[in-house]
Amino acid sequence: MNREDLANLIFPNITKTIEEYEEMYPKRNLGENAKVTRYAPSPTGFMHIGNFLAATIDYVIAKNSGGIFYLRNEDTDTSREVEGAVEYIRHILEYYDMKPDEYEYRDTNETKGEYAPYIQSERKEIYQTFIKHLVREGKAYPCFLTQEEMDAIREGQAKDKRRIGIYGRYAKYRDLPVEEAIERIKNGEAYTIRLKSSGDFNRKFKFNDLAFGEMELPENDLDIPIMKSKDGLPTYHFAHLVDDHLMHTTHVVRGQEWVSSIPIHYELFKTFGFQMPKYIHIPLILKKDGDSIRKISKRLDPEARMNYYEEKGYPALALIEAIMTIANSNYEAWREGHPDAHFTEFTFSPKKMSASGALFDLDKLDNISKNYISHLTKEEVYEGVLRWSQKYDTEFYNLLTKYKDYSMKIYNIEREQKKPRKDYTYYSEIKEKTWYMYDEYFLGSKVDFLEYDLEEVKKILNCYKDIYKEEDTQEQWFNKIKEMCEELGYATNVKAYKENPEPYKGSIVDVTNIIRIALTTLTTTPDLYSIMQILGSEKVLTRFDKIVAK
Ligand code: GLU
Repeated sequence: MNREDLANLIFPNITKTIEEYEEMYPKRNLGENAKVTRYAPSPTGFMHIGNFLAATIDYVIAKNSGGIFYLRNEDTDTSREVEGAVEYIRHILEYYDMKPDEYEYRDTNETKGEYAPYIQSERKEIYQTFIKHLVREGKAYPCFLTQEEMDAIREGQAKDKRRIGIYGRYAKYRDLPVEEAIERIKNGEAYTIRLKSSGDFNRKFKFNDLAFGEMELPENDLDIPIMKSKDGLPTYHFAHLVDDHLMHTTHVVRGQEWVSSIPIHYELFKTFGFQMPKYIHIPLILKKDGDSIRKISKRLDPEARMNYYEEKGYPALALIEAIMTIANSNYEAWREGHPDAHFTEFTFSPKKMSASGALFDLDKLDNISKNYISHLTKEEVYEGVLRWSQKYDTEFYNLLTKYKDYSMKIYNIEREQKKPRKDYTYYSEIKEKTWYMYDEYFLGSKVDFLEYDLEEVKKILNCYKDIYKEEDTQEQWFNKIKEMCEELGYATNVKAYKENPEPYKGSIVDVTNIIRIALTTLTTTPDLYSIMQILGSEKVLTRFDKIVAK
């Protein structure tokens, strides 16, 4: 009995060779500098902003170089899988218009790309082919340690302050004679397959991370599990090796929590003689909390989850802008020089990523978003708020649909000019800032004239009603207001009034304020003349009548 028998006993149905798979997944036919990146989420729940940062960097690197960005579903940990997680990831990539070039969606039965399957649980045979090869070569072995035994080892190691893991003398089954392994398997004993590490923890190797730079790390000497006993699926480490090799990933962008696994990946690639992809480990996302700075937390911070941004209605490109500014320190300067360029035209340089953590500031996002929305056309704002309300506010959605042109006129107030107004930070705020323009909301609302004398309010509104003409130009309109002020005893010159208020009831500001409140309930709004032009005389007069009648 030899290792060949052992390999065949464990994998009776695996008949292909590694070379056959390499032929099935040949080198990609791309330009010389084209980069291949992948977003490889585990479908374990909501999407974290850190994952989005990784995906955005992946996308930019691939698109900027004329390469490929693909989506791989890393679902080998079936116990942690959450229903709907993959669909949500797909939705996010589509929402932010970062569609992968290659993907596989089980729910709609769609696959695109020559390197399928892109769902790891469907690649079991491929992984097992590689594992079978290792078993045959004596570089991997079945391990019969039970959970209780492993717990005991771990406890002992923790107590003695030793490194945790299965290595050296803890790797009890590493040198088990093949005959015995075969017998145990035939007897139905449960086992995992472990790598038979050839590393030495006291030896160091050099590793160059494109973001973190050159590091010196100890070799791996852990006999890590590469195949789980439960379902025959590989562990993350092993799937990473096989998939990124066969799918010809050139750049792996992943969270810095994986840095500690580099020695394992280094050994795995070396064991097979495969070239490692380049790695860009991305820093943690940090946030300001009072005076201190801490890691953004899914428990404490709603903005850690991607649904936050969609619910608020940040335009997709505004969030991407904010993310790119934390991804690369020179992005903002580039943007200033290229105001109209698509973000994928930016050449990402991993070195310009902060290794100590990326500070993500919601105020900054708000500024970016406000500025972004202010530069959209009225049609684009309308499309944005319509799309948002369709999902989050049906009542408003119905109004927007009914009053399309009218709504666009509202968004057009002081837009499309050199310094456009910055009224809206996100789409969910638009209703809050424009509701009074719709009779459906306005007519039922309470109008409060604050400290103003109601008799005086009535007088002003009655007087104004008589002189108001919809067709007046802004200048005519303003002159009429001034005349009215003089007639009713209000100062037209605010400065003069402040210096000497005695002879007046108030100033022109009070008069326009009263008109503004009557029409909108508010004391601050965009340009009053524009508002009245959009409302039109019928609405304007009804609103005045409503007040006067009270
Ligand atoms: N499935 C891993 C994760 O979600 C992917 C890490 C990687 O990109 O390699 O963390």
